[in-house]
Amino acid sequence: MGLIDQHGRTAHDLRISVTEKCSLRCTYCMPEAGLPAIPRDDLLTPVEIARLVGIGVRDLGITDIRFTGGEPLMRNDLAEIIERSAAVAGGASVSMTTNGIGLDKRIDELVAAGLTRLNISLDTVDRDHFARLTRRDRLPSVFAGIEAAKRAGITPLKINAVLMRDTLAGAADLLEWSLANGVRLRFIEQMPLDADEAWARDNMVDAAELLDALSTRFTLTEPHREDPSAPAEEWLVDGGPSTVGVIASVTRSFCEACDRTRITAEGTVRSCLFGDDETDLRGLLRSGSDDAMIADWWRAAMWGKQKGHGMDLADFVRPERSMGAIGG
Ligand code: SAM
Ligand code: SF4
Repeated sequence: MGLIDQHGRTAHDLRISVTEKCSLRCTYCMPEAGLPAIPRDDLLTPVEIARLVGIGVRDLGITDIRFTGGEPLMRNDLAEIIERSAAVAGGASVSMTTNGIGLDKRIDELVAAGLTRLNISLDTVDRDHFARLTRRDRLPSVFAGIEAAKRAGITPLKINAVLMRDTLAGAADLLEWSLANGVRLRFIEQMPLDADEAWARDNMVDAAELLDALSTRFTLTEPHREDPSAPAEEWLVDGGPSTVGVIASVTRSFCEACDRTRITAEGTVRSCLFGDDETDLRGLLRSGSDDAMIADWWRAAMWGKQKGHGMDLADFVRPERSMGAIGG
């Protein structure tokens, strides 16, 4: 039996965080000082990660595996994590979400290890703005990472941009740059998962505001989803074939179609970004439990997945962990 929950959903998409460390400090995610360090022994090892991947694919119906963090490139053993995981992934895709910093030096080993897809996060193509938003002046390094990923033949290369009040003015520039560079851009509404707790519903930029801003320079038509569970609504740009994606995670929640299951860097299952309930699998991995027992605990964790994020409800409570600590 797969990872079903009591609201009728089945999880196929596994997000595994591999670290809390990061080379940036994006204001919508991390605190300025970074997250508290996870003791090394508390992090899952490549062997443990691959064991969970194998159980997920073989016993629980996982079809997509994505490594995230924190910044996955902060782990020196990332290629080993990917290689061991790809070896047991069967037909499942093995992908990663990254800020791209240092990717140019690692992409060849990661592709050789079995990485097949990549999302790179980039919110602005303006260097000063990037430095303010991420608290680090590293935009040239992100560009180098994107170029290297293109050279390595990763297609389509997806770019994720979080919508902030002060990125709105540069949104059309980012789209123009994406079209010129042959990458697929997707904007994401900012969620209340910033460690600084500055997010406010009445100040967030929603998808409608973004579409207005882009429409001053582009003609956007025929919104569609690639498949019913895809969170992004794809708009044709100037008649196509290029598109721009919009993920309205706050204003048009896609919780009813959510097919995700998450493992934190410390090896707990988290059924929802917004639910603080976590189930420890690391303890089972390290105490000699067999695969069937681990699969049972994982199933039980997902059965209790909450119905929705509840952001629009009066009694909404932010989760304790921020995005970088969960694994976005
Ligand atoms: N460090 C990598 C990166 O930035 O791509 C991977 C981890 S990051 C937490 C994963 C994704 O979550 C990124 O695309 C990031 O932009 C997004 N993200 C972070 N905080 C967010 C928030 N508060 N709302 C929406 N997306 C967020
Ligand atoms: Fe780091 Fe990614 Fe969070 Fe930015 S979004 S601080 S790059 S983990």
